[in-house]
Amino acid sequence: MAESDTQPDTQPETRHGIGVSPGTAYGPVVQVAPPVRPPADEKAVDDEEAALADVRAAFESVAVSLEERATRVDDTAQQILKATALIARDKGLVKAAAKELAAGHGRAHSIENAVETYAAQFEALGGYFAERVADLRDVGSRAVAAVLGVPAPGVPPFSEPSVIVAEDLAPAETATLDRRLVVGIITEAGGRTSHTAILAAQMGIPAVVQLAGATEIAPGTPVALDGDTGEVTIAPDMELVTAQRERAARRAEALGRLSGPGRTSDGAEVALLANIGGVEDAVAAGAQDLEGVGLFRTEFVYLSAAKAPTVEEQTEIYRGVFAPFEGRRVVVRTLDAGADKPLKFADLGPEENPALGRRGLRLSAERPDLLDAQLEALAIAARETGADVRVMAPMVATAEEAAWFARRVRENGLPKAGVMIEVPGAALRAHHVLGEVDFGSLGTNDLAQYTMAADRMQGALSDLLDPWQPAVLDVVGLACDGAARVNRPIGVCGESAGDPLLALVLVGLGVSSLSMAPSKVPVVRLALSLHSVAECQAIAVAARSARTAVDALTAVREAARTELTDLL
Ligand code: PEP
Ligand code: MG
Repeated sequence: MAESDTQPDTQPETRHGIGVSPGTAYGPVVQVAPPVRPPADEKAVDDEEAALADVRAAFESVAVSLEERATRVDDTAQQILKATALIARDKGLVKAAAKELAAGHGRAHSIENAVETYAAQFEALGGYFAERVADLRDVGSRAVAAVLGVPAPGVPPFSEPSVIVAEDLAPAETATLDRRLVVGIITEAGGRTSHTAILAAQMGIPAVVQLAGATEIAPGTPVALDGDTGEVTIAPDMELVTAQRERAARRAEALGRLSGPGRTSDGAEVALLANIGGVEDAVAAGAQDLEGVGLFRTEFVYLSAAKAPTVEEQTEIYRGVFAPFEGRRVVVRTLDAGADKPLKFADLGPEENPALGRRGLRLSAERPDLLDAQLEALAIAARETGADVRVMAPMVATAEEAAWFARRVRENGLPKAGVMIEVPGAALRAHHVLGEVDFGSLGTNDLAQYTMAADRMQGALSDLLDPWQPAVLDVVGLACDGAARVNRPIGVCGESAGDPLLALVLVGLGVSSLSMAPSKVPVVRLALSLHSVAECQAIAVAARSARTAVDALTAVREAARTELTDLL
């Protein structure tokens, strides 16, 4: 926004949330509009034919606007928006609305009732269909808004660089944001490891979650946010904005002085790697100063796919991901479908507790055809490109599972097999589990969820999910000990790898690679360069000796060098 617009009438007010994507941002607030409901006093229609034409036009305008948005976003986002547009074009929805009109309901109520009839059917079908109910209701709410002539729910159109504020954003909503215009994201709910936070960091958009009262900030109010500290100032004065910008510039300058592979101050190598979700991320990360990819979440590519992708289709995507990393490592995770990341073509039906159900490798065991097709495509793409491709399985719990996976990987001609260590059972028995494979990668997001029995999707549980919880650090430490016993490398690809202070703890516990959103690499590189392995080990002991998560963080902050903590 222009500097002349920035002298607000209101007093500046600073609040704190959780910073989940680094960087600072300043801009006017765009509030994501809540769903639109039909008015309670809506009149019945007198001309049924005209009303049906309006309803049809409303659904069509929703489809057209979704398709129009799809032209302005990347591949993954396009798929999501096009799939939602298809729901809006479903003839059955218009037919169901026609029945409601014939029964004497008004236009908006007819749309809502038709959508709810469909939603009930989707919910009864369970699995993938049940997961699409949110998209269906979104289409319904947009059609209601269109027929009432009021602004659509969701992100309203805006043309100047702005900060998006919402109660929470669905992963699909985050993925479809226009990167050029969204300078920051603030949510009232959400958590450190919710997929919205992960996507924001991957997209390089500074973000703060868990900001109390965020949805009450008036649209257009200027805000300044710091995605490192979680600090948000509403209606800041220009002095504060300038100070924040200067701090960001100093930080960027300090971080820019260092480059190259990750090393501790005494020269121990700790590979700095990127977490990516598709070809576009790979191209962006490939151009950056990092050593490869430590986690390619392949399921992100297929979130909206209706049918299982063929070997050829997959090969093309994997080629695109590997090409920017010639001579560098790319760790590919096989489909981690299920729970919060359902895939239509890999659905085993409804479950009471999907996070504890047949997800990740458990799903692959029931659908080995999907796993084999993926491994075949990966092997072809790996042969055709010069990347050092390694494949790992999600949600491994036992040594038998690890052995089963490794055999299949090798049968498909891929040289290196690994497993995610994200189930506490696998962490406790890491010596047996990792003995079956070539490497391990700690998924601290799920490891925290399962160690603390706290749903990672629930922002209200973020204190329990805090990766500084000493119990989680203990489990990570035990997994590293197990890896050392069988002489296998172990890294971290959960969000904690991108926290510069936690990175020191993790290195002290024995990890040899850290994989994170590319925007977090420079500060982690700096943190490592300022501390020796022995210092990291002492820092890890201090963290594990703490009684609480807050004490662990405080102890590490005090023990770390001020050249680092002054920048945080
Ligand atoms: C994790 O669980 O830490 C992880 C890296 O995988 P995801 O966040 O995709 O579950
Ligand atoms: Mg996981």
